Amino acid sequence: MSEKRTEISDLGEFGLIEKLTHSFKSKVASTHFAIGDDAAVLERDDEYYTLISTDMMLEGVHFNLMYMPLKHLGFKAVATNVSDICAMNGEAEQITVSLAVSNRFPLEALEELYEGINHACDQYNVDLVGGDTTSSLSGLVINVTVVGKVKKTDVVYRSGAKENDLIVVSGDLGAAYMGLQILEREKEVFKANPNIQPDLDGHDYILQRQMKPEARVDVIKILKELNVVPTSMIDISDGLASELLHISKASKATCHIYDEKLPIDAKTSMMALDFNINPNTCALNGGEDYELLFTITQKDYETIGANPNFTVIGYVGQEGEGNYLIDRQGAAVELTAQGWNHFKD
Ligand code: ADP
Ligand code: MG
Repeated sequence: MSEKRTEISDLGEFGLIEKLTHSFKSKVASTHFAIGDDAAVLERDDEYYTLISTDMMLEGVHFNLMYMPLKHLGFKAVATNVSDICAMNGEAEQITVSLAVSNRFPLEALEELYEGINHACDQYNVDLVGGDTTSSLSGLVINVTVVGKVKKTDVVYRSGAKENDLIVVSGDLGAAYMGLQILEREKEVFKANPNIQPDLDGHDYILQRQMKPEARVDVIKILKELNVVPTSMIDISDGLASELLHISKASKATCHIYDEKLPIDAKTSMMALDFNINPNTCALNGGEDYELLFTITQKDYETIGANPNFTVIGYVGQEGEGNYLIDRQGAAVELTAQGWNHFKD
């Protein structure tokens, strides 16, 4: 190691990954696509590719056990991985689960975690096929790896968006972030006075979006039924703005979206205003919605536009035009990725 010291906070998560991995070139014939998408794509047979993706969650960074029940955590760890397989237009098949646990956790707590994992395995029709268990000096770490498959003719990368394609999102955005804000607020109230019961009434929808996010396997099924293969796709884990920038960079294109088109549930907007946060900011920069963001060719506009699961939010422009959020008056603000930057906390 040289004397030089570069702070990883200056690189950010994606800059760091790029620095560490850019010199790796694939040498194995079955590695079809390696780093840089929601899952790696490996040769399987004439008809299918194998997909593989992994995600790690750390206590204190990605979850807080004060308000996240272990059962929900288990479910979420699987759902977020299945979501990455959906983002390739694929179908999850198996998972492995690796744990680092401190002796703070009794067996019963870990059984609860596995109840959530089991529930997700049933719901998403995946098998738990292995993992690793080790001790941790502080906190819980959970790492899930998911394996899946996709028809070779159906695989969708982040890199396929073309000029004049339309930008689409499934479901609604920003609710998971507002759910987290409520949980954080109630945690502070509880810390100040443990006799006060948390006030979570009436917030079921946004709390559920934070604590029990679903992978949109239903969206993948609908796209198949509608005979639509997106030109590019990514799942929204870090916030819409960050994911749009990934698509535009990978596709050598740009994204232009309209703020009035952002699909935000009324309950999310009301809560955002309560917190003095612009609802658009929740949709753009709040994370963990696990909706799908994709682009389609104009010929699929009517099919997708007519379906209540989807909202067309903008269009793809030429490389070099900049990525913009356009308001009602036509004023454009450049999109920046605020997302979750764990190195800047
Ligand atoms: P996602 O948010 O969809 O899970 P990430 O942003 O975590 O994707 O990762 C982007 C890409 O970088 C993926 O291809 C992932 O496999 C790869 N990647 C992330 N961390 C590392 C690492 N430490 N070493 C090698 N590849 C990595
Ligand atoms: Mg992803």
